[in-house]
Amino acid sequence: MPTETFEFQVEARQLLQLMIHSVYSNKDVFLRELVSNASDALDKLRLAALRDDTLDADVSDLHIELEIDKDARTLTVRDNGIGMSYDEVGQLIGTIANSGTAEFLRELRQAQDKAGAEGLIGQFGVGFYSGFMVADEVTLLTRRAGEERGTRWTSRGEGTYTLEAVDDVPQGTSVVLHLKPADPDNQLHDYTSVWKIKEIVKRYSDFITWPVRLVGEAGDDGEAAAPETLNSMKALWARSREEVSEEEYHELYKHIGHDWREPLQTIQLQAEGTFEYQALLFVPSHAPHDLFQQNFKRGVQLYVKRVFIMDDCEALLPPYLRFVKGVVDAQDLSLNVSREILQQDRHIRMMQRRLTKKVLSSVKSMMTDDAERYATFWREFGAVLKEGLVTDPDHRDALLAVASFATTHGDDGNPTVTLEQYVERMRDGQEDIYYITGESRESIDSSPHMEAFRERGIEVLLLTDPVDEVWVDAVGEFGGKPLRSIAKGEIDLGAREDEQGEDDREKQAEEYAGLLGWMRERLEEDVKEVRLSTRLTVSPACLVADANDLTPALENMYRAMGQ
Ligand code: ADP
Ligand code: MG
Repeated sequence: MPTETFEFQVEARQLLQLMIHSVYSNKDVFLRELVSNASDALDKLRLAALRDDTLDADVSDLHIELEIDKDARTLTVRDNGIGMSYDEVGQLIGTIANSGTAEFLRELRQAQDKAGAEGLIGQFGVGFYSGFMVADEVTLLTRRAGEERGTRWTSRGEGTYTLEAVDDVPQGTSVVLHLKPADPDNQLHDYTSVWKIKEIVKRYSDFITWPVRLVGEAGDDGEAAAPETLNSMKALWARSREEVSEEEYHELYKHIGHDWREPLQTIQLQAEGTFEYQALLFVPSHAPHDLFQQNFKRGVQLYVKRVFIMDDCEALLPPYLRFVKGVVDAQDLSLNVSREILQQDRHIRMMQRRLTKKVLSSVKSMMTDDAERYATFWREFGAVLKEGLVTDPDHRDALLAVASFATTHGDDGNPTVTLEQYVERMRDGQEDIYYITGESRESIDSSPHMEAFRERGIEVLLLTDPVDEVWVDAVGEFGGKPLRSIAKGEIDLGAREDEQGEDDREKQAEEYAGLLGWMRERLEEDVKEVRLSTRLTVSPACLVADANDLTPALENMYRAMGQ
């Protein structure tokens, strides 16, 4: 097959330009990304071989190799993992399938000033492409395990790449970086330096479970370097917390979470006893944009006795904790365990309960110890957590304890309130926890239902997530106080001081009887009843649902779901 030339997809081209031209503050991380990909490829191959014993692949010495060629000014990152087919190279390397990337580019375009843009780039990873930060040409040679022919991909990162089918390619992938001249002023170090490479691997990839070996000709001192394993391969989750630095945890998070940002929270659990396992979980600092999409990949990585078994193991955490990343390493599971088996396994269900408790209790500590971090957490993940109020009655109390809500009585310093705080500051004689649901703060603020509450200074929770209408019904009450929508049923708030008493109201009812009767007749088709109300202060009328009726928003939701 001849060499074919392709154009990068538009987004891919934009990202490459950013990579090449932005003054990215830390270029060393390119190696972390390439080693991370190599490690993933080895995990995938071992798993494929485990599942399919007819696979023609060599799994005897799986490893990652780094090779320096000072004369050619190249650095090669090589693995003997799963590799890629010709089509896969085009799909995986030539396009940006990750829709988070598209969102990132949109944010970036909106960032007006250069400093803002750089800050954004600094938070964002583009994996393989980061090679172009340090190289003016990248060649990737790969053969998928079990396939005959290999593929060569080459690009200078300038809009096009070439693909070519080639023979005699070893199994796995090697990425050859033709290094740019070193430019220490711009954080572009000399990546042909043995010392530098060792330092980077130690810093960013020490926990990688496969050996990362440095092979090569001459080192800095001109001596031929013997193959040397650079990483300790120690599983961080099996070590005690004191032994591991925060930075090491964060690097592991970046590897498994495919995220360049620091996690918000690190959670460790070591369970001993008859069913032993270790867990290292992370709460990201940002909600992924596809969190509410059907096909969102949820779940943590499952290892069995240090052997990677699967990504996205959804049986280990409930759906409302689907944003949690991490590793769970179990001692007594079969290496051949399948997703179906996991769903039914009694031990796995026990683990799920324990892990759920652990995550919720760590959110609770965040809430008491670090209000700012908690606020970030709730802003990013509150809407997902509230799903648990509906679906997981066992943990409802723990969930309610970490939930907080926008309120009419918040201030800039603390715009939200917990149910406990709400109940504490309820006014004398108030029996209910009042809330209003709506699509947005604006629609709630202008709602006529709010008038009487505002007038009387009664606190109302302002609920704007779609799930809110559902959980308030499912939960019903808190601490014996009913949760009550201010847009439903009759609400007697009593008279304001400046208002007329009972007698006056009766008189008023007589006075308006004619009007109400006339309105009832005219609106017969559309409403059940027309009555005088103490709810309103400014608006002449408002629509109210019966206490048991669906609210208009919920009606819309069910209609949208086709019910
Ligand atoms: P990510 O690792 O977050 O998926 P990358 O840009 O790092 O994004 O890599 C894109 C994809 O290319 C990977 O998901 C993988 O499918 C493929 N890939 C990259 N490097 C390798 C490799 N060494 N071996 C096999 N596949 C690879
Ligand atoms: Mg990657």
